[in-house]
Amino acid sequence: MIVMKFGGTSVEDAKAIERTAAIVKGRLSQKPVVVVSAMAKVTDQLLAMGRAAGSGDRKTALKLSRALRERHYNAAGELLGTALFTQFHSDLGIDFDALDELLRGIAAVGELTPRTTDHVAAFGELLSSKIINAAFSAQGMDSTLVDSRECIVTDNTHTRATPLFEESNKRLESKLAPLLAENRVPVMGGFIASTKAGITTTIGRGGSDFSAAIVGAALGAERIEIWTDVDGMMTTDPNVCPEARRIKVISFDEAAELAYFGAKVLHPATVLPAVQKNIPVYVLNSRNPSCEGTRISARAPRCRNVFKAIAAKKRITIVDVAAPRMLLAHGFLRAIFEAFDRHRVAVDVVATSEVSVSLTVDSNESIPALAADLAQLADVKYEGRKAIVCLVGENLRETPGIAARVFGELADVKIRMISQGASEINLTFVIDEDAVPEVVRRLHKTFFSELDPGVFA
Ligand code: ASP
Ligand code: MG
Repeated sequence: MIVMKFGGTSVEDAKAIERTAAIVKGRLSQKPVVVVSAMAKVTDQLLAMGRAAGSGDRKTALKLSRALRERHYNAAGELLGTALFTQFHSDLGIDFDALDELLRGIAAVGELTPRTTDHVAAFGELLSSKIINAAFSAQGMDSTLVDSRECIVTDNTHTRATPLFEESNKRLESKLAPLLAENRVPVMGGFIASTKAGITTTIGRGGSDFSAAIVGAALGAERIEIWTDVDGMMTTDPNVCPEARRIKVISFDEAAELAYFGAKVLHPATVLPAVQKNIPVYVLNSRNPSCEGTRISARAPRCRNVFKAIAAKKRITIVDVAAPRMLLAHGFLRAIFEAFDRHRVAVDVVATSEVSVSLTVDSNESIPALAADLAQLADVKYEGRKAIVCLVGENLRETPGIAARVFGELADVKIRMISQGASEINLTFVIDEDAVPEVVRRLHKTFFSELDPGVFA
């Protein structure tokens, strides 16, 4: 069997769902389990409704809900045709009435708890999976709607619950295996689950990829396909560098580094359950299904190029903390990191010397308060409009002289910080944001002019 996960843009409207249906139809002999996201933007809209209701603004909440109802009715109507839709309409209506009732309840209490947030957010995947299952059936596929809340079990950390694998695996196996044995196509919502007691939970934003990996790992899938709206992972952002090429195969660790530094395709941590079982994961494009995408494998493929990709993360602020009077005093770094922790500011890159530390953080409004706090310990300067550039590749481990080649290429660029990560597979440095396009293009030319055809398209 295989798992096919379709993200929000792959199910955003009737046309997208039709494309998705055609893709699934082409894979029936491989026994797919289909995991779907909410239609694009729906989770954001549901959370906005929840917040509006939580602040007592019932009117706004219900207005947003009406728009959502209309969008789902339209998609279903278009997909099912009049006769089928008439019956399905009242089925969807029950869900939307339940959502409205929930929003009224939240508004009456004027409080939105994490547990209630999950109840609201779950409607996105409940509705999309229902509509997609009905559309598949209307197209002649033997599909069956499966409620993910009955087979994926989590703890009760609402909004980012942790799966309980043993129990989930058991339930997934007993729910899905009989359906697959009858050649039925199970359709289930990603992202949603429930506690042992049956209370609805969600497993974190973007969690449908995680759901797909949980399902695939539980059933020992031959592979997991993550269908999105790009051709896969690229050597760099094609908007910055038109020469960017598709990466055909990348290791899990390399993909993880890239995701961390801004590549938005997929967060590999979410597919870890599958990778640990050596199940290959593919990123594929539902708008261009014949493209073979990117395969994420547990181990790095052999590659003649040193790097797999260059990522750049903008909107970075450098915080320089210098404390000459702290020379050799212990506890300095701890005091600094405690300050970052108090202000809930996450640090990306760190470079230290005996008496100073430079750190990068995502630019945000907490920085002035953080700097004021740090100023009690040391001299503090901070500077925004910086960018992290990160070159990633497992070959970095074994290839000498790479730093010289990278920085030799950038001899005229002001480099603010350098770090060769503990993972040994990334070379990271910080520059002015404005320099990113030029730097990325130059490095791409140096390291990707000749490509290993086994690894790059
Ligand atoms: N719909 C959820 C979200 O937007 C989960 C997902 O799409 O992966 O976060
Ligand atoms: Mg996603």
